[in-house]
Amino acid sequence: MSYRPCIGLEVHAQIQTASKLFCSCRNEFGAPPNSQACPICCGLPGVLPVPNVRAVEQVIKTGLALNCEIAPFCRFARKAYYYPDMPKNFQISQYEEPLTHDGSLDLDVNGDTVRIRIKRVHLEEDTGKLIHGTNQSFVDYNRAGMPLMEIVTYPDFTHPDQIRVYLHTLRDILRYLGVSEANMEEGKMRAEPTVNLIDDETGAATPLAEIKNLASVKAVCDACAYEIKRQQAALEDEEQMERQTRRWNDEKQITTPMRVKETSDDYRYFPEPDLVPMVVEQPWIERLRQELTELPHLRRRRFVEQYGIPEYDAEQLTATRSTADFFEQAAAKHGDAKAVSNWVMGDLAKMLHDHKVALEDCRVTPDRLAEMLDLIRDGTITGKIAKDVFARMFETGEAPAAIVEAEGLAVISDTGELEALVAQVLAENQDAVDKYRAGHKKTKGFLVGQVMAATKGQADPKAVNQILDQKLEG
Ligand SMILES: [Zn+2]
Repeated sequence: MSYRPCIGLEVHAQIQTASKLFCSCRNEFGAPPNSQACPICCGLPGVLPVPNVRAVEQVIKTGLALNCEIAPFCRFARKAYYYPDMPKNFQISQYEEPLTHDGSLDLDVNGDTVRIRIKRVHLEEDTGKLIHGTNQSFVDYNRAGMPLMEIVTYPDFTHPDQIRVYLHTLRDILRYLGVSEANMEEGKMRAEPTVNLIDDETGAATPLAEIKNLASVKAVCDACAYEIKRQQAALEDEEQMERQTRRWNDEKQITTPMRVKETSDDYRYFPEPDLVPMVVEQPWIERLRQELTELPHLRRRRFVEQYGIPEYDAEQLTATRSTADFFEQAAAKHGDAKAVSNWVMGDLAKMLHDHKVALEDCRVTPDRLAEMLDLIRDGTITGKIAKDVFARMFETGEAPAAIVEAEGLAVISDTGELEALVAQVLAENQDAVDKYRAGHKKTKGFLVGQVMAATKGQADPKAVNQILDQKLEG
């Protein structure tokens, strides 16, 4: 058998806007149940929806970032749907005429470039939320009508690794664009893969299985890996399979059948009569294109090429736009990009984390970090002292040179001063001196340590070594 896995992905991402998609209720989580629900999002008779232009723009921007065509003319559609979390009994979505379509995203997967084709990115409203008690259920309509975008790929994934990279890349893009927080663990992004196996020679294929209940990127990848194996085993056993919706059980690491998968006919889509079609004119698209920033996956590639830093560094530094901007500004000023990268990923990241400070609110500016690195490079301070200087910069926002001056932290390279210190250390450690002279050369390390300790790490280590050599051999 030469069947290969064939996986398509549907991603729903919550769109960042001030208000909901068709009414002025706030698009914000955490409010008391049903406190953000009006006659429009609750679907009371006689109300009319008005589209939120900001939500439309967020989808167009995403479409542009994913190299999609932006439809000059598009329409909303009603998706018939009977469930208490949506009192209208339909959801306003897009069907035959989505806002954007036919794009692609290139992924770097284990050293290879894999192109995933994007079928469409469209706009739709979210549903309410059911909360089940022991003998009763409650419904909260705060989420009903919040704007969502659906990003649908062609079934181009052949391996779970590609899905992992895709979801991370997509998340980074949506965050960079300010379109969505795109956090799967918090439910701000949801992914539903559709998996089957195809024999390219004969065209034979197993029935599609759509997988639900996936709360993390890892769960999506694990579920796909499991589903591929399950279908392969079923093929080998010549088992009957049918088109299904399956649920991922994260604890048992298996998928189980939920229901026979609906086809689009079941939703009885038809054009939404309460909303006029949208005409997207070219100048509008061009203005939004201008607003696009350099996307994280492209920036990552540029960092490796331009700054000569490792792939790992580039990935960490481009994880958020603010970190990438900080790095570039500091690297431009200081010059040694790898040194900047080490400090941004190391001490700076640790301090931000430990003090629960966002980079945007940090008192160490990129210029200040660059100044401090200049002091290390020109030998004014040692790397060890720099850590103390940095901690104080983080606290007070002072210039590193001012801290070094005020605290007397500059490296002691004055030969006279160091010679006196070395003489004192030797006098206090006669045992070690004797041992050294008897051939235990390693004792010198101990003596260097004593001098460094006496100067709280400020002595110029090179000078200390030279003076010690003279005195010990002399
Ligand atoms: Zn409302």
